[in-house]
Amino acid sequence: MVFEGLSNKLQEAVRKLKGKGRVTEKDVKEMMREIKLALLEADVNFKVVKDFIAKVSERAVGQDVLESLTPGQQVIKIVHEELINLMGPGQSKLVFAPKPPTVYMMVGLQGSGKTTTSGKLANLLRKQGKKPLLVACDVYRPAAIKQLQVVGGQLGVDVFSMGDKTNPIDIAKAAIEHAKSKQYDLVIIDTAGRLHIDEALMDELKNIKESVRPTEILLVVDSMTGQDAVNVSETFNEKLGIDGVILTKLDGDTRGGAALSVKTVTGKPIKFIGMGEKLNDLEPFFPDRMASRILGMGDVLSLIEKAQEAFDEKKALELERKMRTQQFTLEDFLEQMQQIKKMGPLNKILGMIPGINAEALNAINTADSEKELARFEAIIKSMTKQERNDPSIINGSRRKRIAAGSGTKVQDVNKVLKSFEEMKKMMKLMNDLGKHGKKGFGNK
Ligand code: GDP
Repeated sequence: MVFEGLSNKLQEAVRKLKGKGRVTEKDVKEMMREIKLALLEADVNFKVVKDFIAKVSERAVGQDVLESLTPGQQVIKIVHEELINLMGPGQSKLVFAPKPPTVYMMVGLQGSGKTTTSGKLANLLRKQGKKPLLVACDVYRPAAIKQLQVVGGQLGVDVFSMGDKTNPIDIAKAAIEHAKSKQYDLVIIDTAGRLHIDEALMDELKNIKESVRPTEILLVVDSMTGQDAVNVSETFNEKLGIDGVILTKLDGDTRGGAALSVKTVTGKPIKFIGMGEKLNDLEPFFPDRMASRILGMGDVLSLIEKAQEAFDEKKALELERKMRTQQFTLEDFLEQMQQIKKMGPLNKILGMIPGINAEALNAINTADSEKELARFEAIIKSMTKQERNDPSIINGSRRKRIAAGSGTKVQDVNKVLKSFEEMKKMMKLMNDLGKHGKKGFGNK
């Protein structure tokens, strides 16, 4: 999980203060020392750490904080706010051209994830109703054009290319003309990368910039390279000028130093984060949500958004009605499980829930839970429709058949049926509470 080490240490540091009725300047100093170490270990830029500590300390030792009723909570609030300031403060959205096509020029070193991210971005924007065109301008790496074509093919997004014999500037210009005549809303130009920054690359990118005047230049950097990612961002910004950063591979970055340093060092915001290899693993970057995640306050908003994406509102209402009227069946149970699965891997979802901190998450064996879910699913799928709608008919011989059909044991089948009964009981209880005027879903 991203920020795992930092999360654990920061939470540990603030936990010591949390419940304290009295907090002294010494307590704050001690906590700040721990936070400083945690940030440095997470590979946050040294200057950024110094600045951050100075700001938090100054605010935290103020009389109004130390003498407040909940000094510990106040200090945590300050740490939270300053983390947000470090990465934001606000969300930085993509800019669209007043007149289409909007042109995004994707730049970055080889291997940073530029081509994949170009595809992810096209995918995301298409979901928002836009018509994107991907443009292959990396004429040096032999497989680059093919790679973009494969990505485009998977997404059903058009790819413009002129092979590797044409100058990238001419390709970019021709692509924009093509986009204009074919009514594309946006053009995403995948430019060439190198292993290291060199003058020739910068000159080429400058030339493309001059001739196509992109709406935004987005730099793709690999967060796992830590402070190198920050240095690369600084150089690209100085030499070329960038509008925003897309931080990739955050799913594999346990330290998170780049995410916390880029904005302060370069002055340019992180606009998106790459959270996996799949073409829908790109998320807008929200500094406030990230700060909450780091402090173990959870990321309820992202969780709700994921749920909204996965759950169909009409179905949800129908489900609510069934729960209320005690008509919830194993069939519905199965559907629920499948929807939860659509939200993504279990550990990702759990990590967004407040109170589940990094440590607790490690203690839960999510792989086991996922296996358990899969077993539940297999068992319910081995039942007939009639059995799903009325589990009371599932006698001994039926249980045996279901176990054999799902490759499980009769005990496993019993477990599913028992869980289902318990769930129903709980629903009834909640419903009864609702009827008695307490707030519950049965009272709507
Ligand atoms: P390019 O050379 O900059 O165009 O990089 P590619 O797009 O070819 O990506 C390099 C590798 O990084 C590929 O294996 C991608 O699947 C992988 N990658 C890109 N973004 C992410 C991400 O957000 N998470 C993970 N885990 N892998 C990524």
